[in-house]
Amino acid sequence: MPETAPDPMTTASEDIRVVAAESPLRDVMGGASRWEVPVHEHGFVALVDSMPRLVPEGQTADQAIVQAARVSYGHGTRKVHEDRGLIRYLMRHRHTTPFEMIEFKFHVAMPMFIARQWIRHRTANVNEYSARYSIVPDRFYRPSVENIREQSRSNRQGGDDPVDIGTAEAFLAYLERTESHYAEYEQMLEKGVSRELARIGLPVSAYTQWYWKCDLHNIFHFLSLRMDPHAQQEIRDFANAMYALIKTIVPVACEAFEDYRLGGMHLTSLEIEALRTGEPLATENRREQAEWEAKRARLGIE
Ligand SMILES: Cc1cc2nc3c(=O)[nH]c(=O)nc-3n(C[C@H](O)[C@H](O)[C@H](O)COP(=O)(O)OP(=O)(O)OC[C@H]3O[C@@H](n4cnc5c(N)ncnc54)[C@H](O)[C@@H]3O)c2cc1C
Repeated sequence: MPETAPDPMTTASEDIRVVAAESPLRDVMGGASRWEVPVHEHGFVALVDSMPRLVPEGQTADQAIVQAARVSYGHGTRKVHEDRGLIRYLMRHRHTTPFEMIEFKFHVAMPMFIARQWIRHRTANVNEYSARYSIVPDRFYRPSVENIREQSRSNRQGGDDPVDIGTAEAFLAYLERTESHYAEYEQMLEKGVSRELARIGLPVSAYTQWYWKCDLHNIFHFLSLRMDPHAQQEIRDFANAMYALIKTIVPVACEAFEDYRLGGMHLTSLEIEALRTGEPLATENRREQAEWEAKRARLGIE
């Protein structure tokens, strides 16, 4: 790479028309190389880049959503004439592509069991640390004592209240034994076992890292699933960190996301009918009935 980057304003070929910005621009990350939020003892979510990165002074990156939407709607649109209203309209009506015009790139360090859940989100571009090529760092996730949860009775996938202190201590001792495999991992490397095989004895509490780039529409989809109380607490901690990072860059879109997605509620046609008539939900399915009860409680219906 050249030592100093060429100035495109002066070096662009004659075929390229370089158009200067109409007004002064500001960096949405304030000139920083990264914004980092620590998560647990060894993890983090760091925002390393944003598209757009430069926006007109006095504006947020939300303007890229508006700019894209106006291409579709044109200037003739009368009803959605102001930017915040337009973004909220797009969110409510699931006009999603303008949100795809914004992208964020993150550097994340997380335990492997979280990475397994996270990688299921297929619309991102990912480059992960290679434990075939490099040595796995000696870092492991351990929940705090109050976060060692007992098995939920209502949700087979979840955990609820903390376990008693004796059980918590036994659990931490169990984790410590799995972590002690690290010394053997190092010995195997010294004996010449390949990294790609030596690593397979390590626990899934070991950390991995990746660069994760995704557009805002799909980030909102990720966040709506992974900030939800049904998601595992540990991935929620990472999702919340990600949300905190993007919220200052696209505050209007995030406000609409909170109002219409995160804080919103989906009603089935059976539920609408029960609400309209005051009759019980027309199903024998107990899980569906429990979900309706939870929604009624949220709606403040006795
Ligand atoms: C609380 C919770 C529990 C879960 N439990 C399990 C479990 O027990 N077992 C398990 O295997 N998974 C589980 N998952 C993972 C889940 O099934 C999804 O794989 C994950 O949430 C990613 O969702 P997605 O496919 O919508 O997201 P993304 O992959 O980010 O995709 C976003 C959207 O793009 C579209 N899309 C992407 N790829 C395709 C495609 N190939 N074809 C068509 N449309 C596509 C879809 O509309 C999709 O919703 C769980 C997830 C959550 C949140």
